[in-house]
Amino acid sequence: MRMDDFGDTCVLLKHGEVFLKGHNRHRFVERLHDNLRLALRGIGGSTWIKVAQNVTVLGGQVPQEALVERARRVIGFASVEPAVRVPSTMADITATAVAALRALNTERPGLGFAVRAKRRDKQFPLTSSQLAGHLGARILAEVEGPRVDLTRPDVVLTVEIDRKETYLSWARHPGLTGLPVGSSGRALALLSGGYDSPVAAHRIMRRGLACDFVHFSGAPYTNAASVYKAYALARELNRYQPPGKLHVIALGKAQKQLAVAGAGRLQVVAQRRLMVRTAGALAARTGAQALVTGDSLGQVASQTLANLVAVDEVAELPVLRPLIGREKQEIIDEARAIGTADISMLPDEDCCSLLAPPRASTRAGLPQLHAVERRLDLDEVTAALLDGAQVLLPGEDTAEVPAQSTGCPASESESESVPASARASAPA
Ligand code: ATP
Ligand code: MG
Repeated sequence: MRMDDFGDTCVLLKHGEVFLKGHNRHRFVERLHDNLRLALRGIGGSTWIKVAQNVTVLGGQVPQEALVERARRVIGFASVEPAVRVPSTMADITATAVAALRALNTERPGLGFAVRAKRRDKQFPLTSSQLAGHLGARILAEVEGPRVDLTRPDVVLTVEIDRKETYLSWARHPGLTGLPVGSSGRALALLSGGYDSPVAAHRIMRRGLACDFVHFSGAPYTNAASVYKAYALARELNRYQPPGKLHVIALGKAQKQLAVAGAGRLQVVAQRRLMVRTAGALAARTGAQALVTGDSLGQVASQTLANLVAVDEVAELPVLRPLIGREKQEIIDEARAIGTADISMLPDEDCCSLLAPPRASTRAGLPQLHAVERRLDLDEVTAALLDGAQVLLPGEDTAEVPAQSTGCPASESESESVPASARASAPA
């Protein structure tokens, strides 16, 4: 059953946390609308946005489903409700409510329904509860089958009255809630190929931070699979925000230097420190005010408290770890919900497994780490890593990862050996 059969359609976007904001609420709402407009780009027809109190009304010369699909990706709306809009007269409202329930009851005979009315225009002759009662009675009188069920209704008919227009809706999708992306500033998310880091970035985006991404590959000693994955993940994440950039840094040679310097069982933590140092320097260029990682306390050897502390010691910016208290299964479920799981599950050659000791240390000693690092010129190493960084903009309009973007020096590139599945994974 299509809503178009009942009149002009639109989509109601209920504001989430934004509506808790005080005097600066308009700033958040403007950001929300900017992000919505960006999400509507390329939809294939004109669209319009109208703002009422705590709700945004979205319409246009495009199918309602397309509007719903785009709006559901915009962070900051509590719900996305396809609706029919009619003039705010009793006759129009009643006729539409009755017609809708008749059609719904044909699909699902004997359904239980509830009417929830809300009057934004206090001039309207009936109060909200009077209107709900009136509509319920008219539906029962004119349509055979439906019954009123206020506790566990199969269908909730919501009726929202504005001065000129009234919106009727009987479908509701949960929105992504949170704060509009960008309203809290910018962050740089460390994106590996696993399940955790994309979920972490997504959570941080939902707290209003726009994210750029950095991925460290093991090039020239690993193939480009991890870069393809990071690219596909960033592209997926960019569908929820004004697109952020992906910086790809080939870490392999520096990893070898750490191994040669005698990192031994501290190799993984030493690498993680180098990543965070480098990311910190990169953040100064991208304007990020924080780093984001997918660490979850104790999940693997490198994420014990002692090792996280060792990493934080070299961080110039706060390291945000939104998954710190999450369990792996919760994280994987969330990865499925946001659309990154299918990419994360693909095989790759992670730079962290390169040179990883058989038994990684769970209690990195800072003095030992300092001793290893003193054998390297860290400033020089970091500068070289940054100089070699490649910058990509994973967006929906980019079909392929450019060949030179693998993070592997051309001579040693193994991009031909990227599993076909990794290439195919990049959402078209
Ligand atoms: P993930 O599932 O995100 O790969 P993980 O469980 O494998 O995480 P680690 O490998 O210990 O955990 O990595 C912890 C965090 O460090 C990651 O979530 C990510 O933010 C960052 N990180 C690890 N490896 C890389 C990499 N190669 N490039 C960028 N960031 C990385
Ligand atoms: Mg990992």
